[in-house]
Amino acid sequence: MKNTLWLMLVITLFMTACTNSTSGEDDTQQHNDREQTENTEKDTPETGHDGQGDNTKEKGQTDKKESNKEKNSEPAYKIDKETSSIVPLKEQANEKVVLLTIDDVPDTYSIDMANTLKDMDAEAIFFVNGHFLETPEGKRKLKKIYDMGFEIGNHTYTHAYLPDLSTEEQRKEIVSVSDKIEEIIGERPKFFRAPNGANTDFSKQLVKDEGMVKMNWTYGFDYFEPYMDPEKITEAMVTGKGPEVDVPNSLLKPGANLLMHDREWTNKALADIITGLRDKGYDMADPDLIKTIE
Ligand SMILES: [Zn+2]
Repeated sequence: MKNTLWLMLVITLFMTACTNSTSGEDDTQQHNDREQTENTEKDTPETGHDGQGDNTKEKGQTDKKESNKEKNSEPAYKIDKETSSIVPLKEQANEKVVLLTIDDVPDTYSIDMANTLKDMDAEAIFFVNGHFLETPEGKRKLKKIYDMGFEIGNHTYTHAYLPDLSTEEQRKEIVSVSDKIEEIIGERPKFFRAPNGANTDFSKQLVKDEGMVKMNWTYGFDYFEPYMDPEKITEAMVTGKGPEVDVPNSLLKPGANLLMHDREWTNKALADIITGLRDKGYDMADPDLIKTIE
């Protein structure tokens, strides 16, 4: 009996571990009581916080990896603050792109997923949890993903639900990961994604002060039970539809920000997801071309 209870608890924790809604945009509807400000906020322009942001940047720039492409001086895209989609900044930028993102990294499948992406010449952002970097193995994995040329993002230390934390705890959750990442790869992350897409006024400002652009996502399905299967998740990611979790209409559109995780079924599906999206005429956006905080 005790064992059964434990098993149920573990399963429940697993099911809710990363995210609870299909769309990062809709996330606040599920957390209405706690996150009323998410959609109504008016972010200030990303120019006013020179101090810390500039400092962290200088540190990172001195150690730019060789395998990564040269940072394009002119960004071609930006992350839309409200929808987290990828918006072209200039006319010549290919509009028909999607951004691939992999969360809860580096757990079991991140290296395999990075290899698949690399083999297929597809770009992605890997959002890292600090607790995975406590072992030499975790550090080695992060370094490897970075050395393969992938963008590294901050996904908090313990995968915490930020609205439940004090401001000091939020600061620790966020800043400690950037510190750890910098120790390992020599630069601080430029992108941030909150677990469950749940940001607070405090965390938004802190993320900006830390020189990071925050993003939620357009759609993702691999954390819902019906889609924990390679074929099902492929179909859902390529069509943008998740009828079994009340997403009957496609969310796939130019600039869509696609959420995936370090999970067995997503790892198995990744090549087919990329091929399927390309068959529909979509390129994978290069995170190096996305505007960051200067
Ligand atoms: Zn996550």
